[in-house]
Amino acid sequence: MLQQTRVETVIPYYRRWLASFPDWESLAGATDDEVLLGWKGLGYYGRARNLHRTAKIVCERFGGRLPEDPRELRSLPGVGEYTAGAVGSIAFGSAVPAVDGNVRRVLSRLLDVGDPTPTRLRDEAARLIDPDRPGDFNEALMELGATVCTPRSPRCGACPVGDECGALAAGTVAERPVRNARKRVPRVEYAVAVVVADAPDGPGHGRDGAPHTLLVRRPPTGLLAGMWEFPALTALADLGITGIPGPRLDPVVHAFTHLRATYRPVIVHVAPAAAKRPPAAAKRPSTTPAAPPTAWTHPDHLDEFALPVAQQKIGALLRDWLRDTPRRASG
Ligand code: SF4
Repeated sequence: MLQQTRVETVIPYYRRWLASFPDWESLAGATDDEVLLGWKGLGYYGRARNLHRTAKIVCERFGGRLPEDPRELRSLPGVGEYTAGAVGSIAFGSAVPAVDGNVRRVLSRLLDVGDPTPTRLRDEAARLIDPDRPGDFNEALMELGATVCTPRSPRCGACPVGDECGALAAGTVAERPVRNARKRVPRVEYAVAVVVADAPDGPGHGRDGAPHTLLVRRPPTGLLAGMWEFPALTALADLGITGIPGPRLDPVVHAFTHLRATYRPVIVHVAPAAAKRPPAAAKRPSTTPAAPPTAWTHPDHLDEFALPVAQQKIGALLRDWLRDTPRRASG
């Protein structure tokens, strides 16, 4: 949860997650939807799915206890070298290194090497590690990087290992480690249909007379797999929706690690004439072989679906728009 996210932000998510899934068994027994909902708002949903798969493996293969052997830890979904090292050393006292970005910077400076390979870093960290307190050692190295040996203005005067620092002696601290040129991330735009079923006899129209909106489920693999979203404008015909375009809402920008997405939501009123089929029950997904699962729901109930952050923002824009717009008396 803490990767790319600050501790203060994570705490409420962490507490909520532990309340829902207090042990491996409860996580292993949860549905995909429950897991995605529990993770909602944290992004990087692949981690939630990996944790879910890990829980099942831990229950099926390891008797409900996380294995202590770093090699077995490494075999679990989503557990890489760093995570295996951090969990192995901190939770189980194994003398294995845990090299994150902070540790890479500290070691690069201590060794006075511009661009050390992962193998070199691992070997050096393994050589330095305190076999009696490997967890404390790894955490200390991470903390040193986070608080003293910071990227731009390291406090070398206050550094506990300044006497042994190669870069400090050589006057090369500012050049260590060598910064890799940032790759330009591609930008993509998506036209999003915020379907509003506000015709009294339209599909998805709530029994309470409130307008409902349409969600579709993303495919089970790939980016944001299995999560819900507002449909693409171009997909409406395939979903059997005939719409009357309404106003545009504000664009929503979201930065993924590998691309920068701009969502351009536009209100689409379901055409009363197209309201031939009966309304699908709100929140109950329906599936046809050709179309993705869809669900109609009241805009106030969108938080019952696992919606990625950008889609939650579109939902908020929809609620604002509905609040500011008198109900259409169509049909
Ligand atoms: S002396 Fe400076 S550069 Fe070297 S490890 Fe300490 S803080 Fe980092």
